[in-house]
Amino acid sequence: MAKTERQRLYDVLETLPVYVVLLTPDYHVPFANRFFRERFGESHGKRCFEYLFHRDEPCEICETYSVLKTGQPHRWEWTGPDGRNYDIYDFPFIDADGATLILEMGIDITERKQAEKALRELNETLEQRIAERTAELAASETRLSRAQEIAHLGSWELDLVKNELMWSDEVYRIFGLQPQEFSATYEAFLERVYPEDHAAVDAAYSDSVREGKDSYEIEHRVVRKDTGEVRWVLEKSQHVRDATGSIICSRGMVQDITARKQAEKELLKLTEELKRSNSDLEQFAYIASHDLQSPLRNVEGFVQLLARRYKGKFDGKADEFIQYISTGVKDMQMLILDILEYSKVGSDGKTFTTIDGSSCVTKALSNLKDTITEKHAEITCHEKLPQVHGDFAQLTSLFQNLLGNAIKFCTEKPIIHIAAKKEGPEYIFSVRDNGIGINPEVSDKIFAVFHRLHTKTEYPGTGIGLAICKKIVERHGGRIWVKSEPGKGSTFFFSLPAEE
Ligand code: ADP
Repeated sequence: MAKTERQRLYDVLETLPVYVVLLTPDYHVPFANRFFRERFGESHGKRCFEYLFHRDEPCEICETYSVLKTGQPHRWEWTGPDGRNYDIYDFPFIDADGATLILEMGIDITERKQAEKALRELNETLEQRIAERTAELAASETRLSRAQEIAHLGSWELDLVKNELMWSDEVYRIFGLQPQEFSATYEAFLERVYPEDHAAVDAAYSDSVREGKDSYEIEHRVVRKDTGEVRWVLEKSQHVRDATGSIICSRGMVQDITARKQAEKELLKLTEELKRSNSDLEQFAYIASHDLQSPLRNVEGFVQLLARRYKGKFDGKADEFIQYISTGVKDMQMLILDILEYSKVGSDGKTFTTIDGSSCVTKALSNLKDTITEKHAEITCHEKLPQVHGDFAQLTSLFQNLLGNAIKFCTEKPIIHIAAKKEGPEYIFSVRDNGIGINPEVSDKIFAVFHRLHTKTEYPGTGIGLAICKKIVERHGGRIWVKSEPGKGSTFFFSLPAEE
């Protein structure tokens, strides 16, 4: 190469933004461009290993000089004494003078390497996070599946566009199916629905769509694939719509409610049996007490005749015995009338109308006026009692029983107060007295038929009055209870639904 020609080459290489050096087989550096010099300094005639690495000997492994052996270009990566990374290209190069040289080009790839490293680290972190998240998801899926198993509650999703049905593990368990046995379509699900419920299940979905509802709920039966057993399930579903409002997906839950259904069936059966036996009993009590009235009236007539015609004609004891019979007959008549009234509460009740509570009290007080006068009872009432929906005769009887007891179970002048207040959706009525009071331990029992706390000689009665009150209140949808202490008077409360 002529000198000028060589110089021209050097001039071109001088300003390149990569490093370029020429190396002789004996490690001298006849040319290094500005890029190289700025990074590694001037060679000042020193050999490459001397000025780059301050060594006395050539490096044991030197990739640059391998090209002299192979005669082939070589590419490799090098970390220079400046700590930066270079992408190195070595070419065998024959000078115009015929001398063999090495042309080495180095591109600074430090930034690229750092970016690659950062990217690699980021990737690793991301991979680690994904792995952690996947493990967390798997764990929460297991927890969800277990919770679903315990609650017998599964979840499903139906893609209406693709007709693809996805079930959680518990749905498979409820249907007694293995995932591989199920073709995951709506039709495959319908196959497992109890045949008689097909139409209802299909209609639940289509009706909700037609009526523009966002959800639907249905209880139906399914037939287990493994055992053929029929089970009850509750399904609740919600529709998902696209931007145009069309339903594209339905999501829902399915719960095995067989145990609840069985319990409901049992309860219904028991309630019906109870109703039947109650009504049989009422019928029996009614007929028996009704039919007993006439023979008892006969006995009463003859006893009165006996007393009138033969008084003083037998020995002294006979009059006393006749008196006993007469009292016994009266007691029995009272008992029969009470049983009759008790048996008629359910069967003989009138249809409900709007009733003024105060008018029931007025009527009850009028029925009790002789007793009130006799006992000098003082009865006050809350200014105006509310209106309720009910049976006038029965509510009057209710007040009459409670007021009658309040007067009866009193050792001094009876002072009685009637009141009412609204509490939420109901009215609470109360009848307070200053009587003998009741032991709280037995206060529940006194509402049962024939349950009395005293003998007839202490306080007359049949023990049916409060049972009648309870039956009347319950027929009106309310409750009855008492608060009392012996010697401190009693307050009887009953609730009735407030009129809308
Ligand atoms: P009866 O009044 O015919 O005995 P009830 O069914 O009306 O029957 O009452 C049952 C029992 O409850 C009464 O025998 C009495 O012991 C008790 N009792 C009811 N009302 C009162 C009251 N206001 N004060 C004290 N005890 C009462």
